[in-house]
Amino acid sequence: MSLISLKEILADAESRNYAVGLFNCAGTDSLKAIIRGAEECNSPVILGIAEVHMPYAPVDLMAPMMVDAAKRAKVPVTVHLDHGQNFETIIKTMKYGFTSVMFDGSVLEYDENIKKTREIVKIAKALGISVEAELGHVGGAEGGGSDEHEEYYTEPEKALDFVNQTEIDALAIAIGTAHGEYVKKPCLDVNRLSEINAKVDVPLVLHGGSGLSDDDFRECIKRGIRKINIFTDMSYAAAEGLRKLLEQKKKFHCFELSEVAEEYMKKVVMKKIRLFGSDSKA
Ligand SMILES: [Zn+2]
Repeated sequence: MSLISLKEILADAESRNYAVGLFNCAGTDSLKAIIRGAEECNSPVILGIAEVHMPYAPVDLMAPMMVDAAKRAKVPVTVHLDHGQNFETIIKTMKYGFTSVMFDGSVLEYDENIKKTREIVKIAKALGISVEAELGHVGGAEGGGSDEHEEYYTEPEKALDFVNQTEIDALAIAIGTAHGEYVKKPCLDVNRLSEINAKVDVPLVLHGGSGLSDDDFRECIKRGIRKINIFTDMSYAAAEGLRKLLEQKKKFHCFELSEVAEEYMKKVVMKKIRLFGSDSKA
């Protein structure tokens, strides 16, 4: 029961007006934190890995563990590739049994984004795998730093055309959020979100969620966001836990590091799950 597609997991969110968190894992500590956090909250969850994190968390090691953990979980889990860019990586995660992939063509020309997204959708649909794509560009780089591309907001009319032409299952939109830590206060265009939601009938995805206020999240969910990506908040929480451990103890085993990191990240996962309203929805 537990490993399901993105389309399925978001259909329930849509019908009961909540959002499902996508939490990226970058190793076994985060993987355990996400699954255990979701189980403790009795919440559906999206377990992700971002292509840019693969130099640190090799996909050939992570993917089999992620799929296995999802199958064993007591709650519904979607295993998702976040920001897939290379065709080879996308196909590889499909072969490993991921139930969802994101193709990120947000920096491509509009027609090129449609063409490439359609290619992925064609393959994914034949395998029962969901596809998320992005229109408009959420600035900043996954895991900190900045990318060289300017951010631009999603246009509602274009969003409708994009979804119709690509037949994707979920659409990531740009309404003023940025990846990583915010350098300036985000200015969310929630009216734009409502306009897109009125036009498009696939679930909408919010990237760059770390750093928004609780009220921002509630407002976005009220206006139609059904999937929210979280990584930076979790990642920083792990570092905070390790800092405290280092202050308390001079000597410890490596598994204590993992334990502390997991505990701190699990707290973030559970807090977000409750905020998104997906707790007790499994
Ligand atoms: Zn993202």
